[in-house]
Amino acid sequence: MERVAIIGGGPAGLMAAEALTSSGYDVTVYEAMPTVGRKFLLAGKSGLNITHSEDSDRFLSRFGAASGRLGPVIEAFPAAEVRAWAQALGTETFVGSSGRVFPVAMKASPLLRAWLRRLEGQGVKILTRHRWAGFAGNGYLFQTPHGEKVVEADAVLLALGGASWPRLGSDAAWVPWLRERGIEIADLRPANCGFDVDWSEPFRARFAGVPVKSVVATTEARAIPGEFVISRHGIEGSLIYAHAASLRDRLENSSSADLMLDLMPGRTLARLVQDLAKQDGKASFSNRLRKGAGIDGVKAALLREFSTDADRHNPQRLAGLIKHLPLPVVRRRPIAEAISSDGGVRWSAIDDSYMLKALPGLFVAGEMIDWEAPTGGYLLTACFATGRAAAAGVERWLAR
Ligand SMILES: Cc1cc2nc3c(=O)[nH]c(=O)nc-3n(C[C@H](O)[C@H](O)[C@H](O)COP(=O)(O)OP(=O)(O)OC[C@H]3O[C@@H](n4cnc5c(N)ncnc54)[C@H](O)[C@@H]3O)c2cc1C
Repeated sequence: MERVAIIGGGPAGLMAAEALTSSGYDVTVYEAMPTVGRKFLLAGKSGLNITHSEDSDRFLSRFGAASGRLGPVIEAFPAAEVRAWAQALGTETFVGSSGRVFPVAMKASPLLRAWLRRLEGQGVKILTRHRWAGFAGNGYLFQTPHGEKVVEADAVLLALGGASWPRLGSDAAWVPWLRERGIEIADLRPANCGFDVDWSEPFRARFAGVPVKSVVATTEARAIPGEFVISRHGIEGSLIYAHAASLRDRLENSSSADLMLDLMPGRTLARLVQDLAKQDGKASFSNRLRKGAGIDGVKAALLREFSTDADRHNPQRLAGLIKHLPLPVVRRRPIAEAISSDGGVRWSAIDDSYMLKALPGLFVAGEMIDWEAPTGGYLLTACFATGRAAAAGVERWLAR
């Protein structure tokens, strides 16, 4: 029986292992950490947004430039199949109000446990504490608790993840080893990350951890409703991640970038001007805002943080800031804190079977490939789908 080595036991690697053992291959998963699926379990801490229910065109558009390459493989394992797969493993899912799909249990551990039981039943061998440490001639060098060993296999599939949360295992140590073999790799950068804002000390002390709800945030042409969280460093949360790519790109050429906030999407500018103008000019700023615009708490503090005394006393200017408050972000948070990374093995280096063109017999899957997507279940769906596509590529290669 042909032997396949899968290096990396995250969602992409495990999905490839499932597909290949179903087809009768002898599969060993090599995982650096003491257990597999650590990032998958962490994703479960926020409910495990496993996929998204929107129509397929919209779904694929989330992958931007990579949608052309990812489209066919996601169509082969679309959201409905992801849900059916989870259900067959005993995990019922539901569609949340935003269209995002979650397990009813809102965690990953029951699904991962059932998945590992299935894999074990299918004969997948999982060797943990086996850290791939580079190439050794035609083989793959591993550091193990019992010293170094070199593994050879009929086909090898790398599913090593991106570079976010390296302490969970995906530390991008593989980048130079593949580059040395001539594989083009786009630098790994934080995607779906928070940003630093230079808050005043009083604002930081009072509002770190507080959510800012029911706003519309805009960068370039995209206006997205939602909420975000004030952090000690700046801003975090799904609404921020949705704008992260454009903020990040703008920060590459500039020392700051503005996220435009509409703090009162339900009220028009004209109505706000009118209501604010009716307020007693001698009343405090908080009272005028509360009575004239229905704004208090963190939204009022944001306005205070980014306005001048003159703005605060001019109904027209104040209403303008309520509808278009520029929130200046100055830096990305580090990649180690990001939900995901972009960059990785360039599509030009990969054939339609997910095999590296320069290294026949070596396949790649998951977040280590150069694509990115916002949060919303797209990341896991693409990891599952590329895991399956690479497994199919391995089969074609071994059957050639
Ligand atoms: C806080 C957080 C929340 C998230 N929430 C969601 C969510 O709700 N929905 C969603 O779609 N996505 C979410 N994600 C993203 C999602 O978890 C990842 O995109 C996904 O896990 C990537 O899968 P992967 O298999 O490509 O890589 P990984 O899950 O990173 O797995 C790679 C594996 O390879 C192993 N490895 C790395 N290097 C080596 C080596 N040298 N030798 C051996 N093994 C190695 C690692 O230890 C790891 O187990 C979240 C991420 C984070 C950090």
